[in-house]
Amino acid sequence: MVEIMLIILTGLPSVGKSTFSKKLAEILNKLGIDVIVLGSDMLRESFPVWKESYEEFIRKNTLYLIENALKEYWVIVDDTNYYNSMRRDLINIARKNKKNYAIIYLKAPLNTLLQRNVKRGEKIPNEVILEMYKKFDEPGRKYRWDEPFLTVDTTKEIDYYRIARDLIEKSKKTVDREENIGSECCSVINEIDKETRKIVGEYIKRIKPENKEIEHIVKLRKRFIKHLKNEKYKDIDVSKAIMEFKRLLEEKG
Ligand code: ADP
Ligand code: MG
Repeated sequence: MVEIMLIILTGLPSVGKSTFSKKLAEILNKLGIDVIVLGSDMLRESFPVWKESYEEFIRKNTLYLIENALKEYWVIVDDTNYYNSMRRDLINIARKNKKNYAIIYLKAPLNTLLQRNVKRGEKIPNEVILEMYKKFDEPGRKYRWDEPFLTVDTTKEIDYYRIARDLIEKSKKTVDREENIGSECCSVINEIDKETRKIVGEYIKRIKPENKEIEHIVKLRKRFIKHLKNEKYKDIDVSKAIMEFKRLLEEKG
C-alpha cells in the first residue's frame, strides 16, 4: 500500500530546490498523492526583516508544521538542510511518526549556482554561496542514514515522473523501526564540538580580539561543551546548541 512519506531536499541556494519541489508536488498529485511543500523560507519571508534572533522561532515552527502535516500528507521539505544535523532532525520526525523518508540531494557546479543566484537578484551574496559550497557536508558521506535516495543534477533534464514513481515504490516498503539517530551517541557532541570550533575560529578572524579575550572565548567554548556533555544526550539538538553558542559568544558570558 502507498504510505505517507517525508521527502527531504538538500542542496545549496540556487540549485533549484523550490523549482524541483513545486514540479515534483504537481506530478505526485497527478499520481493521486496528497502532498504539501514546506520550508523555513515560508516563515522567514513572513517577517518584514531578517534577524538572527528570529531563526530559533523559524526552525522550531517549521519542524512543528512538518510534523503535523506528515500525519495527513506527504511532505516535501524545501530547504538547504545544510548540516547533517538538520537532516537528522527531520529523519527523527519521520521515525517518531513511523513514516518512511527519502533524502534527495540536488547538485550543480558552483558556477551554475553563482550565475543563477545573480540572475535572480543575489538576495544571498555570491560570497556566501561560495563559502557554503566549500563547507557543504555532502549527504551520506558520514552516516548511512544520511545517504541520499537520489542525487539529481539540476543542469540536466529531470524526469519527474520517474522520480515520483520511485518514491511511491519506496513508500510501500516497511519503515525502518530504528531508534532515534544520535540519541545517546557521542556523534551529536562531536558535531557541536566541531561546529563551535569553526565558529570561534571565524569569530577570532573577524573581530581580531586581544589575547586575553581569546583565552576567555576558548574557555567559554570548553565550558559550553562540558555543560552539554553533562546533560542527557537525548535532549540535545545540534542546531539549537549552535545557535545558543553563537548567542553566548556575542554576549561573551
Ligand atoms: P533554490 O530554491 O534551491 O534556491 P530555485 O528553485 O529558486 O532554487 O532556483 C534558482 C534559480 O535557478 C531560479 O531562477 C530558477 O528559475 C533557476 N532554476 C531552477 N531549477 C533550474 C533547472 N533545473 N534548470 C535551470 N534553471 C533552474
Ligand atoms: Mg528556494
